[in-house]
Amino acid sequence: MLDVLVIGGGNAALCAALMAREAGASVMLLEASPKAWRGGNSVHTRNLRCMHDEPQDVLTEAYPEEEYWQDLLKVTGGITDEGLARHAIRESSTCRGWMIKHGVRFQNSLSGTLHLSRTNAFFLGGGKALVNAYFRSAENLGVDIRYDTKVDRLELVHGEFRAAYVGNQRIEAKACVVASGGFESNREWLREAWGQHNGEWVADNFLIRGTRFNMGVLLKDMLASGADRIGDPAQCHAVAIDARAPLYDGGICTRVDCVSLGIVVNKNAERFYDEGEDFWPKRYAIWGRLVAFQPGQTGYSIIDAKAVGRFMPPVFPGEKADSLPQLARQVGLDVDAFMRTVDAYNAACRVGTFDHSVLDDCHTEGLTPAKTHWARPLDTAPYYAYALKPGITFTYLGVKIDERAAVHFGGQPSRNLFAAGEVSAGNVLGKGYLAGIGVTIGTAFGRIAGTQAARAALDTRVPQPVEGVLRAAA
Ligand SMILES: Cc1cc2nc3c(=O)[nH]c(=O)nc-3n(C[C@H](O)[C@H](O)[C@H](O)COP(=O)(O)OP(=O)(O)OC[C@H]3O[C@@H](n4cnc5c(N)ncnc54)[C@H](O)[C@@H]3O)c2cc1C
Repeated sequence: MLDVLVIGGGNAALCAALMAREAGASVMLLEASPKAWRGGNSVHTRNLRCMHDEPQDVLTEAYPEEEYWQDLLKVTGGITDEGLARHAIRESSTCRGWMIKHGVRFQNSLSGTLHLSRTNAFFLGGGKALVNAYFRSAENLGVDIRYDTKVDRLELVHGEFRAAYVGNQRIEAKACVVASGGFESNREWLREAWGQHNGEWVADNFLIRGTRFNMGVLLKDMLASGADRIGDPAQCHAVAIDARAPLYDGGICTRVDCVSLGIVVNKNAERFYDEGEDFWPKRYAIWGRLVAFQPGQTGYSIIDAKAVGRFMPPVFPGEKADSLPQLARQVGLDVDAFMRTVDAYNAACRVGTFDHSVLDDCHTEGLTPAKTHWARPLDTAPYYAYALKPGITFTYLGVKIDERAAVHFGGQPSRNLFAAGEVSAGNVLGKGYLAGIGVTIGTAFGRIAGTQAARAALDTRVPQPVEGVLRAAA
């Protein structure tokens, strides 16, 4: 019988498959998509967030465990499992050597608004190259890879894995790793999770930044079979993206990164949140949700010429005008309302020393909502507007896992069913987001899940304690 069945074809699944194979298990990997679309959301990634105590090849200065943890604590508002989070953080300090062994290459941080050279290691060629390297390595190691193979359900007996079904085909294995992503591609489920707001079905205007294959089929199936659930279905990583982006797979280039350099208004031409609250990497992932609760799930990011060249240019050019009233007319905003908003903002700006790389002293006074940093009047033509929609990256509802990545049923870990990546990301991410932690979570728990699945398949003894897992995975 097959030792380890891995379901999914993204970063977490590939890490699990490689580790299980390296541990001596026979491994089959089932990917729902055709080969051309393999890799799920992972093909869109650019970097992972890494703990390190001193400068390393592509990482500057230090990013110690405690600072990483505090950053996570802040963005999640404490809705995170500290044990699992610290586990993933520590793993991020040791995984890169293993990644390089499997063909992943790193490059210096890209410049732009994300300020990531200290905290994040960028993949040369992006996530597509990462996934291609892992697939190549998996093929070379003899992992049996099947494309166009969507698993419909699992056969579980009291939380123990017996087989997976692809249509009527029953595939048995001694252990299984589910790494099939969240349910972000499933628009019906998103609709149900987000419900109505002011009479509008909020999710009907969402765009999906990544793959169309993460339908949450196995997440739903495991929960229906009694797996413990973690996370809120309406919590997710959602950024403000260009309203002209395609429904699926628009990827990174549709993100609009100039929010902190100007103002954002809704369809009524009113501001609704502090655009300068914190550094963009810690705040960009709240803007999808903020826009989701505006009329028509639409926002408009407005900048002037002073912002140009200070942010990653989106793929679509912004609407451009030589005057603010003209800009409002071009994007269909009420000119008077828009000018009232801009005039009030401009009059409230207290400009000190503008510096986008620090939390500077340029702020507004007497304005609601305030803009607390990088506040400069919109006064230099040409002006630009980008219409925004919520771009859903991945959902946080998942199955509960432990330090061994074992899926829990009624508070007890499964002997041979493991989960990694987005399907269990909610254990670490209750809400909010920290740039690069998605790949960290998938890599850490993917590797652990692969090691543990191989152990469950090859060794009938009691599972090893956590420290053993970490040593094996290092
Ligand atoms: C545009 C974009 C940019 C991003 N940038 C970054 C970044 O720079 N850094 C970062 O850390 N994170 C980033 N993320 C988030 C990141 O993609 C994820 O957190 C991480 O890659 C998820 O890995 P995963 O393996 O869990 O899921 P995925 O990579 O989505 O893989 C899930 C896989 O499961 C397969 N699948 C689904 N259902 C089934 C089924 N029933 N049967 C068989 N297979 C199935 C899918 O086809 C897919 O291959 C980004 C996401 C997007 C969309």
